[in-house]
Amino acid sequence: MASAYQIIDHAYDVVVVGAGGAGLRATLGMAEQGFKTACVTKVFPTRSHTVAAQGGIAASLSNMGPDSWQWHMYDTVKGSDWLGDNDAMEYLAREAPQAVYELEHYGVPFSRTEEGKIYQRPFGGHMQNYGDGPPVQRTCAAADRTGHAILHTLYGQSLRHNAEFFVEYFALDLLMSDDGKCEGIIAWKLDDGTIHRFRAKMVVLATGGYGRAYFSATSAHTCTGDGNGMVARAGLPLQDMEFVQFHPTGIYGSGCLITEGARGEGGYLVNSEGERFMERYAPNAKDLASRDVVSRCMTMEIREGRGVGAKGDHIFLHLDHLDPAVLHERLPGISESAKIFAGVDLTRDPIPVIPTVHYNMGGIPTNYFGEALDPSRGGPDATVPGLMAVGEAGCASVHGANRLGSNSLIDLVVFGRAAAIRAGEIIDRTAPVPEVNAASEDKIMSRFDRLRNANGAIPTAKLRDKMQNAMQDDAAVFRTQETLENGCKRVSEIWGELGDVKVFDRSLIWNSDLVETLELENLMANAITTVYSAEARKESRGAHAREDFVDRDDTNWRKHTLSWVNDAGEVTLDYRPVHVDPLSDGIDLAKIAPKARVY
Ligand SMILES: Cc1cc2nc3c(=O)[nH]c(=O)nc-3n(C[C@H](O)[C@H](O)[C@H](O)COP(=O)(O)OP(=O)(O)OC[C@H]3O[C@@H](n4cnc5c(N)ncnc54)[C@H](O)[C@@H]3O)c2cc1C
Repeated sequence: MASAYQIIDHAYDVVVVGAGGAGLRATLGMAEQGFKTACVTKVFPTRSHTVAAQGGIAASLSNMGPDSWQWHMYDTVKGSDWLGDNDAMEYLAREAPQAVYELEHYGVPFSRTEEGKIYQRPFGGHMQNYGDGPPVQRTCAAADRTGHAILHTLYGQSLRHNAEFFVEYFALDLLMSDDGKCEGIIAWKLDDGTIHRFRAKMVVLATGGYGRAYFSATSAHTCTGDGNGMVARAGLPLQDMEFVQFHPTGIYGSGCLITEGARGEGGYLVNSEGERFMERYAPNAKDLASRDVVSRCMTMEIREGRGVGAKGDHIFLHLDHLDPAVLHERLPGISESAKIFAGVDLTRDPIPVIPTVHYNMGGIPTNYFGEALDPSRGGPDATVPGLMAVGEAGCASVHGANRLGSNSLIDLVVFGRAAAIRAGEIIDRTAPVPEVNAASEDKIMSRFDRLRNANGAIPTAKLRDKMQNAMQDDAAVFRTQETLENGCKRVSEIWGELGDVKVFDRSLIWNSDLVETLELENLMANAITTVYSAEARKESRGAHAREDFVDRDDTNWRKHTLSWVNDAGEVTLDYRPVHVDPLSDGIDLAKIAPKARVY
């Protein structure tokens, strides 16, 4: 099959797939060390979803009051509902300040305090004194365009170090050796239809999340979990896929995000009775309780008949009591979003909001160096040679069952950097770049050719709608055995229909129909592992809230779910232990031991 397509060959030390914050930080770190580095991306780097990150990036700089990395680590552990790996969470919190200063020196235009220090705002779940409060100002911000500022800066820095960019190349699959090493990728160049083979000593997947498996999501339409799909097709596991974060404040209707920074700056939620209901559920943190908690409270208010609007199906977010000058300075972007997507002038009226899919805690399992894991290679922490994953595609796991706001941007840069440091230690600079395994390449091109010529009865968009609706209905904020079993059944049926998909356009140039079909297959690998993992987990933890198992069950379930899906859509589950040991002796183990999670 491979012979039917002419393939253009490239050889690199490192190929990074993805040019969001994680991909760019990894690319920069690799190029800085003199590795011949390619960054392959399906969208122009500064159009990656990271550009949309508004609120900011967490690091205990103590610019606005007392803080410490230990408090940050504690909040992350608690936020994860004790499912995160303590070594990785310690690494994140310790390295965070340095990573932010590094961004500052690269040129990120952070907002400033009166004294010229980096401005920091409060964010949900970030507290002083090991969770006792009051809220801490830890989230460093460039107004409400922090991701935008970071992405542009990192792109410029990567170019400065001679990283090579392959823009609008769609990565299809991983080239694997017969003994399970990753040896590169195959990509399709969207504007001229050529096929490219990138052989490499190390592949770094930084392909972002899969929010688009759901009907209503804050993420870009390009967030289709492609790297996770590639890993699943390579027979490797995904981890903790049942944990999907709903952000409390997506704009009702469009799903467009209103940053948590809005509540950080003093915004609050009210129900149809005009009540600030979060005071009832979370007396200390109130509207700044963590996201899973606020989303559930909003859903309960709506269910109990206290939703707002004609259908009583959403909640109001008030910012109209804040000084318009503050809104203008600190939240200019969301003022615009509220106007465009809700038709609201937020200096006068509340914004209609609803919990909306926002972040995927699960992904490709890695250690805190970003190396991908495959327990079948010899124990729960065995690594896959030649493969790393960073950013939202990866699962280190620092977010466990629930991510704290502003902890993703810091994850991108800390682990993008860590992956580059690790690559510097393990890549053999003198070794030749691997030759291509013809069988692996054949398999990739056969799949591509099959989809390109797919001539069934169901248009891609129709099947995608079905998947998005099934996930929205049955793998939602609240879950039960019945909804989850129903979800498994529906998503499996849709998997069965993939064979009957129809692609209308057979060309190879700007074939968006084929792109969307490839993305749909990737989304389906994410969707099916999400709903099966969720059905199996008989407890409530973080974002996984079961009405039939309302408590967290550490005895039986403090473990990571691993999930595999084969070509026939059969899902296999297994589990690996949570890393309970932190990295250093300086951590008070009693402090980070599991306890009830109240805000
Ligand atoms: C609206 C919004 C606001 C947010 N605000 C914040 C915030 O304030 N603070 C915070 O900490 N977090 C925030 N988050 C979360 C955070 O922004 C994301 O988790 C993070 O940006 C993901 O970065 P990434 O580098 O992993 O992937 P992305 O930025 O999504 O980039 C993915 C990259 O992979 C490439 N790619 C994907 N598939 C392929 C393929 N098949 N072939 C080639 N290339 C491919 C894409 O081209 C892209 O370059 C927000 C998220 C959203 C959606």
